[in-house]
Amino acid sequence: MQIHVITAFPKTFDGFLDESILKRAVSGGAVTITLHHIRDYATDRHQQIDDYPYGGGPGMILKAEPIFRCVEQVCEKYALPERKITLLTPAGQRYDQKKAVELSLRQSMVLLCGHYKGVDQRVIDELVDEEISIGDYVLTGGELAAMVIIDSVARLLPGVLGDIDSAITDSFQTGLLDHPHYTRPENFRGNLVPNVLLRGNHAAISEWRLQQALQITKERRQDLYKQYIEYEKSNPSC
Ligand code: SAM
Repeated sequence: MQIHVITAFPKTFDGFLDESILKRAVSGGAVTITLHHIRDYATDRHQQIDDYPYGGGPGMILKAEPIFRCVEQVCEKYALPERKITLLTPAGQRYDQKKAVELSLRQSMVLLCGHYKGVDQRVIDELVDEEISIGDYVLTGGELAAMVIIDSVARLLPGVLGDIDSAITDSFQTGLLDHPHYTRPENFRGNLVPNVLLRGNHAAISEWRLQQALQITKERRQDLYKQYIEYEKSNPSC
């Protein structure tokens, strides 16, 4: 997968791309991540990328021209298999695991990060194909939201996690929240690992994990629990 990030603050991604799963995803060739600095596409003497809003009011707006030039050049230079431009914005569709799976099946993504008060509406009207929000709160810029998306998508790509089962048994992926996990030692300050996990009976372990996941989901996320139970009722063999 090719991921292109259009941002006014590319340094924000330092560290994020140099560590752990992301580093492995890039070095193993599962994904290429290219940062494009909006300022490099500004043509005026001061390389200005933002300006005051028409009509007045607080905050600066990212200008249309450098973003248009950037998107056009990225699409041309990288011959993108899919020309789909995704804007990170609080006004977008709420991001969830289902969307992460959908994005992980694409061959390319272009993530456009807003900043300041936002981006010129003509960018949204003419260039943007979809808008994603990572939650009902306001960030300073789209960079953190882009990192959330890149991280959650990259771990679903083949060869990125040591064991893909780890991703497909995670919360939401199964329709439920995850069950509890334990590792050595068996007795930690008097707290014992549940006996069922020590006996090697895999059917009993699976059943215990399912019951735990059901209980936690029922307690914490009635919405997910109801969906799961309804799905199970209408697909009894699954
Ligand atoms: N004026 C905008 C509003 O009220 O919706 C907020 C602008 S915010 C300070 C600057 C940028 O951060 C946005 O253009 C967007 O790219 C990004 N951003 C902020 N919150 C976000 C969220 N919840 N999800 C995705 N992107 C977000």
